[in-house]
Amino acid sequence: MAALEKLSMHIDGDAAAPASGDYFESFNPYTGKPWALVPRGGAADVDRAVAAAKRAFEGGDWPALNATGRGHLLRRLGDLVAENADRLAEIEVRDNGKLIAEMGLQLRYAPQWYHYFGGLADKVEGAVLPIDKADTFTYTLNEPLGVCAMIIPWNSPLLLLAWKLAPALAAGNTVVVKPSEFTSASALAFADLVAEAGFPKGVVNVVTGFGAEAGEKLVAHPDVARIAFTGGTASGTRVYQNAAAGLKKVSLELGGKSPNIVFADCHMENAVKGAISGIFAATGQTCIAGSRLLVQESIHNEFVDRLVAFAKTAKMGDPMSPDTQVGPVTTQPQYEKILGYLDVARADGAECVLGGAKAERPECGDGWFVEPTVYTGVDNKMRIAQEEVFGPVLSVIPFRDDDEAVAIANDIVYGLAAGVWTTDISRAIEIPKRIRAGTVWVNTYRAVSYVAPFGGYKRSGLGRESGQQAIRDWMQTKTVWISTATETPNPFVMR
Ligand code: NAD
Repeated sequence: MAALEKLSMHIDGDAAAPASGDYFESFNPYTGKPWALVPRGGAADVDRAVAAAKRAFEGGDWPALNATGRGHLLRRLGDLVAENADRLAEIEVRDNGKLIAEMGLQLRYAPQWYHYFGGLADKVEGAVLPIDKADTFTYTLNEPLGVCAMIIPWNSPLLLLAWKLAPALAAGNTVVVKPSEFTSASALAFADLVAEAGFPKGVVNVVTGFGAEAGEKLVAHPDVARIAFTGGTASGTRVYQNAAAGLKKVSLELGGKSPNIVFADCHMENAVKGAISGIFAATGQTCIAGSRLLVQESIHNEFVDRLVAFAKTAKMGDPMSPDTQVGPVTTQPQYEKILGYLDVARADGAECVLGGAKAERPECGDGWFVEPTVYTGVDNKMRIAQEEVFGPVLSVIPFRDDDEAVAIANDIVYGLAAGVWTTDISRAIEIPKRIRAGTVWVNTYRAVSYVAPFGGYKRSGLGRESGQQAIRDWMQTKTVWISTATETPNPFVMR
């Protein structure tokens, strides 16, 4: 067997080996075999990276650069990501098993975040306040926070990093990134492009390792001012608790169990595609998966028949092949978790009308594949309807009318996204108002953009990424008071 590629962390502008000397294997989900060795970063590596980021924040070329200069570097970085999109997409596919068609699209789109926030960098204005006190000139400055930590998951590593990194750098912060232990390679390749774009050393550092080791140390580090986390709700809760001890600013993009609601007046062919895109795209491994399909009773059977017929045509196999539609599950623990949920659905009494097992097709080789799975007869109280499976497993829940659809949609701890399929204009406007979720798509699904705020209601998270206001989340406001009075009044009373 060929020797595994040994990866290096990226600290203070240089390739870095872990202080412990320990490495762990990264697996290709399609072959089920290791392909790289990832540095097992720990406390000492986090300390080095945070110290480098702190030095870069406090002095040298980065703080000397004005906002226009930062914007220029960000746009250059966006260009480099675009030029390297195919190479970066291939690295992601090898590590997370998502389709080359999807990762290629993501990597060609991710540059937009660097261009957009690069453009915004010098458009954040302070204000001269119409202050109510005589002889006083008062204004605000928007300043960066300092060293920011970014913890990202395995499902869309570089896209989700762009959502955080672009506004953070535009605002003038420095950064330590901790990618998922399952997909570290792409962030390391990306770090080389950051250097090539001309960012001063120490502005962006990447430490690899496990959540419980490198991740926790980074969150708890006293010199880290802000944490941006995307991942599961349980890990996010722990990050929030650990960050609380240091009173750190936190944003959390967490899990979901999104309702995709199909009304009887929908355009059925489009709605079937919307349901497919909600659950089988990315093998269901997206936070915004429309994993609860709510279908109005009068069209329920016809809709399910059409959905199952369509899903049966989905081509499974090698994610590097451009015509594959359903790839493997990214990690072995995730694969086992999904198979466990198939038992849960069975025990819940749901009726399996498609799949319901691991995929043992020849084209799936030794990879971690699960058959596209559809359950009907699901009650929203069942575990299969309430818990995030993060795989190609759909629960179909019937409803009678608008009120019942909204009640079922909202009867969940999550609130990340929702879909609504209708040709009725008042429904298209009224139903989104009643849904407790950060994003509602009407007659479409899985659309995201750098201009559109994204984030969760309820236990799907805190804060919003993307859109103009996102840059403010990476800044703090300072108010400056200048007295123009020639005499200081009574010092024993408030001004
Ligand atoms: P995860 O929570 O296991 O891990 C995410 C990241 O957090 C990894 O880098 C991991 O090492 C790190 N981590 C884990 N525990 C930590 C801790 N205690 N302290 C610090 N860091 C820690 O999630 P995952 O399995 O990689 O990703 C899947 C989850 O992410 C799903 O629940 C999905 O819904 C969610 N997700 C959410 C969004 C969103 O934008 N809302 C997007 C993608 C994925």
